[in-house]
Amino acid sequence: MNGPPLPPPRGDSPAGTGRGDRLAPAAARRVFVSLGSNLGERAVALRAALAALAGLPATTVLAASRVYETAPQDLPDQPPFLNQVACLETGLEPLELLGHAQRIEAAAGRVREVRFGPRTLDVDILLFQGVESGAQELTLPHPRLWRRAFVLVPLAELWTLARGMPQVDVPRLAAELVESQPVTLYVAED
Ligand code: ADP
Ligand code: MG
Repeated sequence: MNGPPLPPPRGDSPAGTGRGDRLAPAAARRVFVSLGSNLGERAVALRAALAALAGLPATTVLAASRVYETAPQDLPDQPPFLNQVACLETGLEPLELLGHAQRIEAAAGRVREVRFGPRTLDVDILLFQGVESGAQELTLPHPRLWRRAFVLVPLAELWTLARGMPQVDVPRLAAELVESQPVTLYVAED
């Protein structure tokens, strides 16, 4: 289903009518999120983030990519990152999901200091089915998505799950970018 998202259910149905259809949750939309960590127990932080996303209201984690290790790109002189992408299906609105993502980051002990600097957990929304936004608070697609191999390589693994997303050949773009931006498959130490 690649058409525009269905509107959320109207809030005008009287409670307790027993009309299951009117009380149905908003139509779920597909979303890709990226997870990154370069401080502390990085793999543990990614696993905890996936579990937290799976526990969000009206949300299912459909799949998670493998984990990749990458040298810092935007701000050098910091530890290497672990990166992963997950595909969700959610009835949440984009800003609701962003709020949850920021709460999950905070729960992982993230302190916002230097932009692009070290972080225990970064949760970014890459793509949200049928949604484009130029707002600074939530830009969709994510503004740096198309030029980052560390996001595109894991995203390429899940790209068959894309619905209502820009018609970009993500596996091909990832293969091109990885020539100049090395990304290594991470083998868990534990
Ligand atoms: P970054 O992820 O760019 O390294 P932060 O995680 O500190 O930096 O996020 C900075 C701000 O980016 C957040 O306060 C958030 O409102 C905004 N933002 C804009 N678009 C997005 C998006 N697609 N996903 C996550 N945050 C976003
Ligand atoms: Mg972020």
